[in-house]
Amino acid sequence: MNEKTELLGMNNDEIEEYLSSIGEPKYRGRQIYKWIYQKNISSFYNMSDIPKNLRVKLDENANISIPRFLKQRVSQDGTRKFLLEMIDKKRIETVVIPQSLEKNTKYSLCISTQVGCPIGCSFCATGTSGFQRNLKSYEIVGQILSSRRELSKRLKNFNSEMITNVVYMGMGEPFLNYDEVIKSIHLLIDYKGINIGQRNITISTAGEVNGINKLAKEALQVTLAISLHASNNHLRNRLIPLNKKYPIEELFKAVDNYIKKTNRRVTFEYIMLDEINTSRTDATNLIKLVKPLLANVNLIPYNEIQGIEFKKPSESKVAQFYEWLEKGGINVVVRGERGSDIEAACGQLSSRKER
Ligand code: SAH
Ligand code: SF4
Repeated sequence: MNEKTELLGMNNDEIEEYLSSIGEPKYRGRQIYKWIYQKNISSFYNMSDIPKNLRVKLDENANISIPRFLKQRVSQDGTRKFLLEMIDKKRIETVVIPQSLEKNTKYSLCISTQVGCPIGCSFCATGTSGFQRNLKSYEIVGQILSSRRELSKRLKNFNSEMITNVVYMGMGEPFLNYDEVIKSIHLLIDYKGINIGQRNITISTAGEVNGINKLAKEALQVTLAISLHASNNHLRNRLIPLNKKYPIEELFKAVDNYIKKTNRRVTFEYIMLDEINTSRTDATNLIKLVKPLLANVNLIPYNEIQGIEFKKPSESKVAQFYEWLEKGGINVVVRGERGSDIEAACGQLSSRKER
């Protein structure tokens, strides 16, 4: 028996081509594309405008493998963490974050790009749980389809347009899986398909310079976020081992080039670790680095993780650091902590522990 063809992850042209290759008219491909990405349907038998005999033929020859939902945890603030299973039984997590407490709130999705992460940052639950494999583009967009399906089961008033924002900040380093990530972005932004606004997509990197350089050449309007966390190489080496390969000077050269090429503002993420990177000198050095680039800074009070030594600073220390940056002329926000009670906050995702 031949292996079945995976249709999820294909764009409109690729599905049309596939239909041609099995002797069917191309426009059937367009119909199927809509069923998958607009209507969230993964069973050919539910595609009501496709002739019965073609539905049977497709079912015999093709798959639409939306990741299987295993379970969820719901936070007090409404954030949900979904545990999803891939065909090879590997598990990943996707976090669904309501943007407000209102009934008709829109949602942001935090998606994973790898099972585990090879970078091994010392403060991160994903990084300290090892690396298993890259996700394919169908598994990346599949997180959105799977989440839409689960939300519509659970929320009476849900519709697909309620997911408006996607952040590539779940498990893994997106730029170590560059091609599949870019392919997934093209699927997300297609207005005839999933239809997420480009400007509502953020991709976060630990500083993979190669990926930043490549992204600068794509004609995309997505937001680039850089996990900085330290303003000197000595500390950054300790926190993010990738800094030994791409030290701060090299990273900033790439970011500067990215800004010049794309004319887009970038965001620097700065985890606040008590007694580690929150002093006045740290603030001064951070301002010196970031100010010339007119970049935004997101301060993220550390989410503590069992077994990892770092601690979260007090609220007053966070407020003090914020003030230093603001007075230093930096466009700064403190990122609200969501879902920490269910370990769904940044850096608390891990395929190892669950559960
Ligand atoms: N690998 C990418 C994207 C995933 S991590 C990157 O590192 O940027 C998403 C964000 O969560 C990064 O800024 C990361 O540094 C941060 N993060 C990781 N562990 C965290 C923790 N325990 N508390 C707060 N933020 C954390
Ligand atoms: Fe990987 Fe990002 Fe975690 Fe570092 S912070 S280990 S790059 S997921």
